[in-house]
Amino acid sequence: MAKERLYLFDTTLRDGAQTNGVDFTLADKLAIAGLLDGLGIDYVEGGYPGANPADTELFAVDRNLKTTFTAFGMTRRPGRSASNDPGLAALLDAQADAICFVAKSWDYHVKVALETTEEENLASIRDSVRAAKAKGREVLLDCEHFFDGYKANPEYALACAKAAYDEGARWVVLCDTNGGALPHEVERIVGEVCKVIPGDHVGIHAHNDTEQAVANSLAAVRAGARQIQGTLNGLGERCGNANLVSLIPTLKLKKEFAQAFDIGVSDAALKKLTHVSHALDERLNRAPDRHAPYVGGSAFATKAGIHASAIMKDPATYEHVKPETVGNKRKVLVSEQAGRSNVLAELERIGLKVDKDDPRIGRLLEIVKEREGLGYAYEAADASFELLARRTLGTVPNYFDVTQFDVNVEQRNNAKGERVTVTMAVVKVRVGADNMISAAEGNGPVNALDLALRKDLGKYQRYIDGLKLTDYRVRILNSGTAAVTRVLIESEDEAGEHWTTIGVSPNIIDASFQALMDSIIYKLVKSGAPA
Ligand SMILES: [Zn+2]
Repeated sequence: MAKERLYLFDTTLRDGAQTNGVDFTLADKLAIAGLLDGLGIDYVEGGYPGANPADTELFAVDRNLKTTFTAFGMTRRPGRSASNDPGLAALLDAQADAICFVAKSWDYHVKVALETTEEENLASIRDSVRAAKAKGREVLLDCEHFFDGYKANPEYALACAKAAYDEGARWVVLCDTNGGALPHEVERIVGEVCKVIPGDHVGIHAHNDTEQAVANSLAAVRAGARQIQGTLNGLGERCGNANLVSLIPTLKLKKEFAQAFDIGVSDAALKKLTHVSHALDERLNRAPDRHAPYVGGSAFATKAGIHASAIMKDPATYEHVKPETVGNKRKVLVSEQAGRSNVLAELERIGLKVDKDDPRIGRLLEIVKEREGLGYAYEAADASFELLARRTLGTVPNYFDVTQFDVNVEQRNNAKGERVTVTMAVVKVRVGADNMISAAEGNGPVNALDLALRKDLGKYQRYIDGLKLTDYRVRILNSGTAAVTRVLIESEDEAGEHWTTIGVSPNIIDASFQALMDSIIYKLVKSGAPA
């Protein structure tokens, strides 16, 4: 049976830009559009030309993308003609392959928000679609509040959708704008719409306010819709939009969808999904969600000992898909409950060849348990575990020694009489026969210490030039009588590889220092730096 084509429409740059704390620059938008294009997304909605300078510029520059680059905007204002609406004119002039209009489809909103008649709203939809088609653009219509509108007045909601379709819009997109619809409702209503408008002209735009945006999108496809709108990592206003990073592998790897549909994302592009998801977080300066389906650091991580031994025999026993299909990795966690099999599995992953009866494995397990009793959590710190394993098995060179460090935090008045806090760190390092002293100012003690430590490592400096810290987390633990501080540091190198290291101490600077040292030494080991 021939597969049907299902189209993906990304709105990370438009709806995703509504996310709290997200503010894309022009460079961000171009870079993200490039990632989406590389993935094989059919439509990339760039923004709202005419509404803000960055979006106007985005539509003016040469983008060189294969995707259908789409501009978003409103239908003509009520009471005006299409030729006499400056907002519509800016949208029509933008260099876009397609235009996605948004229009009301709930009679209540037409009356209260738009303050116009139902017939004038329909005329506005028809006129706007016609004007964009005359400009040679592919046209989409986002029917705002479609599901709420349909529940209140199905005839009118359908009339809005039908007006756009009859006028030649390529897609009529049903929006769950408030995000409150449930999958069985979406499936029923989309089914009703597809009796009037062919499903290969119907799209779904779901919001995640009941955490079912992905489920609602799949329900719409089951009912006949053939376009899904969503965002990378589920970015979007409030609780976000449908997450394309979860939808794409589901559509490609789950039988019901994979057998029925083709999407623009190839098997090779699917392998880049984890990278694309993390690259977006990187741009937003956020730590990736460890528990994200398919692409999270924990998505294919197993903790308990019995599972680990089964996974080593056959990974399919505890995995719903193969992690490498989405560019992720299998991970067996080493933890307090760890058995020998976990440690063996982890050593195999690291690439350390040890006989399974080697007595040093028992020793390593003892050290892990003892240190976890002190507050270390190796399941969250893969790189520190690897170093511990390599040290216990005797293979980490002593690259350099930090003979002394000093961190000074001073609060005082500056020349303008303002109260300022100044932090400085001085680090003495011995590399072979060379003694080095480095000093750095930072925006806090850990930052200053990190900068000083990485300023000059002599012959090792070139190995750590691309190293940077991407996340720093602190927790106070109450173990027994005294509180201790646990620091987790996430680092990244020039190749985009991430790792996490740990430090534990009653003193936060000391705990941070341990984690920083582990990160640097891990990078030297990984880069094959000579002893
Ligand atoms: Zn939306």
